[in-house]
Amino acid sequence: MICEQAPLTGAGKVYGIIGWPVRHSLSPVMQNAAFSAAGIDAIYVPFPVLPEQLPQGVQGLRALQVAGVNVTIPYKTAIMPLLDEIDSNARAAGAVNVVVNRNGRLVGYNTDGDGLIISLKKDLGFNPEGSRVVLVGAGGAARGALAALCRAGVASVAVLNRTASAAREMIARFQRDYPLVALSVIDQHTTAAEFWSRQELVINATSLGMHGEQISGLPLASLSPVARVYDMVYAPPVTPLLSAARALGLQAENGLGMLVAQGELAFALWNGIPPAENVMRDALVRHLDRT
Ligand code: NDP
Repeated sequence: MICEQAPLTGAGKVYGIIGWPVRHSLSPVMQNAAFSAAGIDAIYVPFPVLPEQLPQGVQGLRALQVAGVNVTIPYKTAIMPLLDEIDSNARAAGAVNVVVNRNGRLVGYNTDGDGLIISLKKDLGFNPEGSRVVLVGAGGAARGALAALCRAGVASVAVLNRTASAAREMIARFQRDYPLVALSVIDQHTTAAEFWSRQELVINATSLGMHGEQISGLPLASLSPVARVYDMVYAPPVTPLLSAARALGLQAENGLGMLVAQGELAFALWNGIPPAENVMRDALVRHLDRT
């Protein structure tokens, strides 16, 4: 909350998040807690930007010398041509979730993918290197995840998406850059139980679960008992996917750790130092407990 913040002086820096809508974003809670804990004279505010005003919004960041922003739905891809430079990971993911204002030049980064890998290791004890993964979804979050999984050296990723053509398009691009990773598009109705029994991790990168939706036809019972399930959705904290996986005895985690890790990486890009350990997670958990 802003009231946790030390008073901002004229020398203070302004950071924020742009998206539409941004009312429900939890990034201000995490980032302001981290600025405050680090004693940095800065504030982080939500910037709702109407879809038809994205170019003006980005121009406004330059004019007002905003030091950096997070980018959320629906602008992670749309903002790319409006920036001065795109980091290679963001280019690979086709999405930007962090912008750093470097002396007037706006540079785009993607910390979602690396945030996922950090959370998989920390929260699920899962090292993606050499592993077989099913990725549900082919939107911005899935692209960031696929880029990071490929960088982390997975053996294979099978993509399951409502719109199969979007999944095919996504993997075609990545297959060129990562010829050693076996990428495929699957359909839950035709894929054999034997295939599922060999998968080590299932990741939900769709918005299904935010409002109690099931991911239809996902044969969790065919997974090996040591397979793990990761749901990028973090509100509600227990989605239907997570409760179904846990009911089968599978280790399953929500996306809170990814949200925290991408925010910690963004903070480090802006400030050159990481935030104090757990300050963002604790602020978030306190906030979610109150709401
Ligand atoms: P996009 O809008 O880019 O993609 C949405 C994806 O969900 C697509 O694959 C889409 O399939 C699928 N989808 C949407 N509705 C349905 C439906 N009714 N049935 C089946 N599939 C559906 O969103 P993002 O990729 O940016 O975000 C996806 C999720 O990831 C969100 O819940 C978001 O909150 C979460 N996320 C979490 C983060 C974290 O830090 N924990 C970070 C980033 C995202 P189709 O192609 O067929 O439309």
